[in-house]
Amino acid sequence: MKTFYADEQKRHDPKAFLSMGAQRSNPEQPERVERLLAGARAAGSTIHRPASYGLGPIAAVHTPEYIEFLTHIFERWQRMEGASAEVIPNIHPFARNGSYPAGAAGQAGYHMADTACPISAETFDSACWSAWSAVAATEAVLSGEPAAYALCRPPGHHAFADVAGGFCFFNNSAIAAQRLRATASRVAILDVDLHHGNGTQGIFYNRADVLTVSLHADPSRFYPFFWGHADERGETAGIGYNYNLPLPRKSGDAEFLEALDHAIRRIQAFAPDALVVALGLDAFEGDPFGGLSVTTPGFARIAEAIARLGLPTVIVQEGGYLCDALGDNLTAFLTGFAGASA
Ligand SMILES: [Zn+2]
Repeated sequence: MKTFYADEQKRHDPKAFLSMGAQRSNPEQPERVERLLAGARAAGSTIHRPASYGLGPIAAVHTPEYIEFLTHIFERWQRMEGASAEVIPNIHPFARNGSYPAGAAGQAGYHMADTACPISAETFDSACWSAWSAVAATEAVLSGEPAAYALCRPPGHHAFADVAGGFCFFNNSAIAAQRLRATASRVAILDVDLHHGNGTQGIFYNRADVLTVSLHADPSRFYPFFWGHADERGETAGIGYNYNLPLPRKSGDAEFLEALDHAIRRIQAFAPDALVVALGLDAFEGDPFGGLSVTTPGFARIAEAIARLGLPTVIVQEGGYLCDALGDNLTAFLTGFAGASA
């Protein structure tokens, strides 16, 4: 299986992060890339640089206003006297039914859900290349490869159509799914990240052509808190096309695989032409977020179950943070996937 990745993705190097009000170092470190590349190579994957696809595939899921914001906000922020080195919002609309602000500080609050996605001079470029890695993997699958892996970093599944959040700027999984729709009439996105894929859910919430399914730690007391509950099923034409499977904290392989079985049956009933896997590896028992307890062999079993769907599949990297087994977990997933597809 081919891996798609560009070195520009490593330049984004966020510093700020608030957890329970305390300033900590941001967990979405460029070093993640080295571990994941090593993991992909150990699975026998070859690394390919994506082409630059321009803003078209990004604009297919994100609003013009938001793309404009991300393009220029860093320079605009720096022009404010006394502004921080990274763009970090300090005010948010409590509901988005007011006016769109003209200034950098107001727009940062409008377009950034939380303080976990600070924007530096390199962020926009890195986010574009991350999205283009997803596009390149999608193109490979559209050209007949049974599966391809996009090493997307920064990740994407917490990004809505016009909001960044949770380390994410452009929603790479959504961009891949929308691109697959060029030929596939129905696409499913299966998100196995520790955290609910709230941005992905939001982007497709009113649509019946893209099924969004997410397994994650119960958000009642866990990020992203406001989304990811089992009763969120979609709206208007999308009712019934969003399926959330929240798991109790510390659930291990057995519980995860049982929930995955429900997810897979829902996907089979939808009968999609193609699949996007939003592959977070942070459900791992040793991940610093400590939300679930999936093991390294568990990732292989998860991959095998997904591969048995037999669908053209774009695997998009989401979360998974620095720990000794980060690369091994990717190797386990990619090896398990390839083994079950063969
Ligand atoms: Zn996550």
